[in-house]
Amino acid sequence: MKIEDIRVGSVRVPLKTPFKTALRTVDAVEDTLVCVTAFGGLAGWGEAPPTAAITGETNASIKAAILGHIRPALLGKDLDSFEEVQAALHGAIVGNTSAKAALDMALYDLFAQSCNQPLYRLLGGARSELETDLTISLNEPQQMVQDSLAAVQAGYRILKVKVGKGGDDVQRIRAVRQAVGAKVRLRVDANQGWQAKQAVRLIRQMEDAGLDIDLVEQPVPAHDLQGLAEVTRQVDTPILADESVFSAQNALKVLQCHAADYINIKLMKTGGIAKALQICTLAELYGVQCMVGCMLESRLSVSAAAHLAAARQVVTMVDLDGPGLCAADPFTGGPVFDGPRILLGTAPGIGVEPTTGYLEEEAENHVNNTEAIRAYLMRAI
Ligand code: MG
Repeated sequence: MKIEDIRVGSVRVPLKTPFKTALRTVDAVEDTLVCVTAFGGLAGWGEAPPTAAITGETNASIKAAILGHIRPALLGKDLDSFEEVQAALHGAIVGNTSAKAALDMALYDLFAQSCNQPLYRLLGGARSELETDLTISLNEPQQMVQDSLAAVQAGYRILKVKVGKGGDDVQRIRAVRQAVGAKVRLRVDANQGWQAKQAVRLIRQMEDAGLDIDLVEQPVPAHDLQGLAEVTRQVDTPILADESVFSAQNALKVLQCHAADYINIKLMKTGGIAKALQICTLAELYGVQCMVGCMLESRLSVSAAAHLAAARQVVTMVDLDGPGLCAADPFTGGPVFDGPRILLGTAPGIGVEPTTGYLEEEAENHVNNTEAIRAYLMRAI
């Protein structure tokens, strides 16, 4: 099954409310789409978000990496030699992990379709249902309380609360804990917003106040592995490495020096599923549990991450709330995101395809079916 063509397009989905972290504020998902077609008629789909603050990529750079480097390296390659295709993908250009992730998931989508298996089953998974947390954006405590109560009302039992941009973070968490009660599980994500000593002090304050935090994610800057290890040693609360771990090499370093208790795997950091599986394997060897998370992504790429999460037992935490933050869904098929529940389903591949709307040219062309979108993607090259 040879690769016939690779095309790119765009998708825009407004968010229910602006997404705010220590690093950025965003009010819509505006991602690059990729479609890989194989001779014989199958199509695999991928999506990449422009998370410049974390991966250094923009939509323009993602499209340029795909069309200028990855596409020429992959055209004509035989998908049945999957390892060879992966080597070509990752050898086409260094970095550009989100662009690679979009291609990687489209290739897995195609491959699993050709095997007539849902991707998570092809990867060895037996779980068909996952539970995700929901992100609470960084705001004044009163707003965060309101958002947390709304999340609990919507059925979420685990909240990931953003902190780390100044102000009284302990007060934010205390306010949320008091509002939601003892039964809701809280994860705290500082997005690199603290320095090591400050992190130790704040986390200890949360512990002393009995705020019962499941974990603290990326308390210190990504490069500061020593600081991360110091925080992990000095507090009782488990520490989760996120921005510090892009690659399997990064993961190995964190594992070897026990710089964190858990690892957050995201396709956009690893460059796709194949590399993410390497991190899963390392974590299994070290007995370290993983989270599978996402950037600000819509349902196409988050579904790919859900297939990965369902495939490996070492993934015990799921932070795949992208679709839950979106005010609309421009895709059809594939996993169902029903509040906190993610149901993998039985469709072959990843199972998700764009439908109508949210593509750049919608207003002009009234694109209303997948064929027309494919035609648009051809023009976009
Ligand atoms: Mg994070």
